[in-house]
Parts: sequence; C-alpha cells; structure tokens
Amino acid sequence: MLVYRTFSDLRKYLDQKDLFGKTIGFVPTMGALHKGHMSLVQKSNQLCDISVTSIFVNPAQFNKVEDLKKYPRNEEVDIQMLEVNQCDVVFIPEVDEVYPEGLVSPKVDLKGIDLRMEGKHRPGHFDGVVQVVGRFFDQIRPQKAFFGEKDFQQVSVIEQMERVLNYKVEIVRCAIVREDSGLAMSSRNKRLSDVGLTQAVLISEQLQWVKNNFNFSNGNEIQRALEKAFKTDAAMELEYFEIVDEVNLQPLKSTNNKARAFMAVELEGIRLIDNIALY
Ligand code: AMP
Repeated sequence: MLVYRTFSDLRKYLDQKDLFGKTIGFVPTMGALHKGHMSLVQKSNQLCDISVTSIFVNPAQFNKVEDLKKYPRNEEVDIQMLEVNQCDVVFIPEVDEVYPEGLVSPKVDLKGIDLRMEGKHRPGHFDGVVQVVGRFFDQIRPQKAFFGEKDFQQVSVIEQMERVLNYKVEIVRCAIVREDSGLAMSSRNKRLSDVGLTQAVLISEQLQWVKNNFNFSNGNEIQRALEKAFKTDAAMELEYFEIVDEVNLQPLKSTNNKARAFMAVELEGIRLIDNIALY
C-alpha cells in the first residue's frame, strides 16, 4: 500500500499513464479506524480499480477544541488495518496541506438539510465537512466516494454539495456496521470505559424499540417515552432525538415519507450518534 502526505505526490501517482481509465474510489476518514470504515474500503475495492483512503482529523468540523484534542489517533495501526484490507493508497495530509493560506472554499446552499440535528447542535460542523470533502474531491477527482449511514445527515449534505458543485462523483451510501451488542461502531467508542461500552448499548436498544413501536400518528408519544427512558438513565444525557423524513431531513408530512429516527447522546463526556430506518 502506498502512503502519501501531499496532494502533489498523490496526484503524481494518480496521473501515471498506467492508471489511465481506471476508476478511483475514495474513502474519507478521520482515522482511529474500525470495521465500519473497513466496510467502506471493501465496497470501494469491489466497485473501483483503485481505493484511496484519507486519514485527516479535520479541525474545521469540530466546534469544540476539547473534542478535537481528544479525538483518538493511531496512524500506525490504521495503516496496518488498511493494508490488511487491501486498500491501495492511504493519504495522510497535515492541516496546512489541506488548508493552505488563501484557500477559498465555495459556499454551498444545503437546502436546509444542515439545519436540524447535527447542524443545529454542532454549529459550523457541516461547513467544515463540505470544505474538507470539496477540497479532497477537487484534488483526488474520484469517480466514486464512499460514506457511511452512521453519519446519515452527513451523506445527505455531501450529496447536496455534489449536486450543487457538480463534481460528477457518485456518492455510495454504506450501511451502519454494529458491534454484536448493537452499538454502532465509532472511533469515539475507543474513549469509552468498559462500563460505558455496556451502557452505550441503550442507544441502539432504544432506536430498535422506536422502530418496533412507531407509526405515523404516535410520534409525540414515542418522543416522550424515549426522553423518559434517557432521563431515568443517570449515565447518559440525550442531546436530541428526532424522527424526520430521510429524504429531506424535515418533519414527516405524510405516511408516504420514509421515516428515520436520529439521536445524539453524551456518555462519559463523549458524544455518540446513531440512527435507524423506521420502515
Ligand atoms: P469518521 O472517521 O468517523 O469521519 O468516518 C469516516 C466514514 O466512515 C464516514 O463516512 C462514516 O459515516 C463512516 N463510518 C463510521 N462509522 C461507521 C459505521 N459504524 N458503519 C458504517 N460506516 C461508518
């Protein structure tokens, strides 16, 4: 597996004559890799000739300095894992490489899909996501890019960005990979204690309960029951719980809408998110 740290070195490799006409699959990550990330790499390997994974903890998408500082990093282990999973290229740039002085990033009208949930609770988060993914798309010019539905709202934002800026990159959505316990895999889980890991299972259990009990007319009841379940759980604090139309991430209007439940909680000072389709 090749390791590059600058766009120019990566471009030199991708511009080789031998690679002409090959499909490039791109998997953006922030590292501290796990099986969820590897499912994206495997999908890219299936659908593309060359898989490029980036590892970049993007400061622009963190609205809390502490959260950025504490984000788990483990480059050596990440490289090994990517190698075992037959990724072709890993790109690990420094912040100055991604954001050189004077860089101007386009502003994108996100049509309101950025306003609720993650957008509301992490001001500026999606601007940072759009900025970094746009920069990578510009430089790497992949045919396909792979994103996990673990960050469902993020994929919707990226699809909208792709439409507006017309990158001609196919956005491939990948299903959430979970632990046997049901807990959605996340780099942030690495910061949880053993007790925390057990407590965090409540998130997916509650989402499953919502899936089993939701119908179009009982949304308010479900909301109250869920808030109560988290109030009685001393360890976890519910940041938000919302059921929205998964197409536009706005409140449900009719039974024809594809409903999806989203939540964010804080446990041991760590923010965890998850979501589930309700159809
Ligand atoms: P991150 O490193 O957390 O920024 O994630 C990089 C990519 O991996 C994003 O597209 C995530 O949605 C995806 N991802 C993270 N965790 C999972 C998971 N448990 N299942 C599927 N995709 C995931």
